[in-house]
Amino acid sequence: MLSNRSLRFKINLSIAMILLIVTLVFGSILAIYEITRRNDAIQQVKQFLDDLTAQYSEQLGNEIFAGQELALSATLAQLKKRSNILTIDTYDQVGNLVVTTAAKSPEGLELDQLRPFGSPVARLQHWHNQPVLSYISPIIAYNEPVGYWQIRYAMTTLNQQTLEIVSIFSALIISLSLLLGLLLNNILRRFVLKPVYALQKTMHSIENRDGPADQEEIDDEQRLARMVCAFDEHSCHLKVSKETQDEIGSLGYAFQQMLLALKNAYIGSRTDVLTKLNNRRKLDEVLAFEIKQSSRYQNPFAFILIDIDYFKTVNDTHGHLVGDRVLVELAELLQNCLRTTDIAGRWGGEEFIIILPQQKRLHAQQLAEKLRNTICSHRFTDANITITASFGISEYLPGDSAAGLVKRADDALYEAKRFGRNRIVWQ
Ligand code: GH3
Ligand code: MG
Ligand code: MG
Repeated sequence: MLSNRSLRFKINLSIAMILLIVTLVFGSILAIYEITRRNDAIQQVKQFLDDLTAQYSEQLGNEIFAGQELALSATLAQLKKRSNILTIDTYDQVGNLVVTTAAKSPEGLELDQLRPFGSPVARLQHWHNQPVLSYISPIIAYNEPVGYWQIRYAMTTLNQQTLEIVSIFSALIISLSLLLGLLLNNILRRFVLKPVYALQKTMHSIENRDGPADQEEIDDEQRLARMVCAFDEHSCHLKVSKETQDEIGSLGYAFQQMLLALKNAYIGSRTDVLTKLNNRRKLDEVLAFEIKQSSRYQNPFAFILIDIDYFKTVNDTHGHLVGDRVLVELAELLQNCLRTTDIAGRWGGEEFIIILPQQKRLHAQQLAEKLRNTICSHRFTDANITITASFGISEYLPGDSAAGLVKRADDALYEAKRFGRNRIVWQ
């Protein structure tokens, strides 16, 4: 039986996996977008500083070259007023500090930070706990590099914007995931769980249906057919493609075949190979069932044990194979004398039993008499002989067990043999 809880768990797990994948995809898109956006912002600032360098190179170059430190300070102070510029340091050709706008003099410029061909370098750094773009560029005057400058440009907004974008994206992804989760859950509940539960319910009610014990074989087939019908019917309600419905159909057919094979195996394991009557295993089950029924509902129930007289002589005189055919013929004689509610079987060797549910001893006696007459007056075809059989009868008594019932019939049979065979005794 399909477990509702495990099915629901699997569906929820699938939804969670889908949401995880959606989140990962959106997260990756966000990461790519954010990296591109930061690079663009850095490039924009660098471009602004490149332009600033080109615009002021000649003026700064002259002031450095002529040693006009006051004029240089004034120029730098004016430039520093430009948006987001934190500090400007100027250096001579060998990297010694000339003038700075910083409160504290910076370390000397490490010229090897510049690329060998002397083009500007911009790096994102942390300076006094805030992100800055450190921009170092040569100052060219009259086509000669006369010094360098380093500008620290505040990039605080860069991180703030990142935080804002990540927050907005996260809120969006969470809302989207929740919405998608609810939607998927609803769809799966409507189009998968509901039909499956309905099918399960039908199957379950068919499985648990009570029926009279004597119609067991017919009911098995009906039950099987109804199960397959229910399966087919409900598979149509599943909102799936034609291919999937075909697959469900062939699965249903395979399922039916499997159940039929199981049923045949079940019947085979409870049938006597030689006589095709019920075997000892089946008889034990029926006996246990009838004892239970009789003890619960106080039904009468009778039992007949039959043993062929001097059967060893038949084997000794005509051979074992002929003996076998006598057993088969006797089984047919028994079957022909019984009603559909009576259950006959081979108890073992040349012994047979008949179970008579809901019947009293008197009825068993009448039936045994009929059987005794039929057997002793029948000429067995292969050996062209007649045989006789002895009968022991017992009847269910309150509190009886299967073993007790059989024991009394066996004792009665022993008496029948002792009194001369071809007779009926009950206990
Ligand atoms: P009694 O009247 O006391 O029952 O005598 P009996 O010869 O029928 O009883 P006994 O128990 O001495 O022998 C039973 C014989 O049944 C012995 C055995 O060879 C034979 N028998 C048991 N099963 C089969 C079988 O499947 N096929 C054949 N051909 N014979 C069987
Ligand atoms: Mg015997
Ligand atoms: Mg015998």
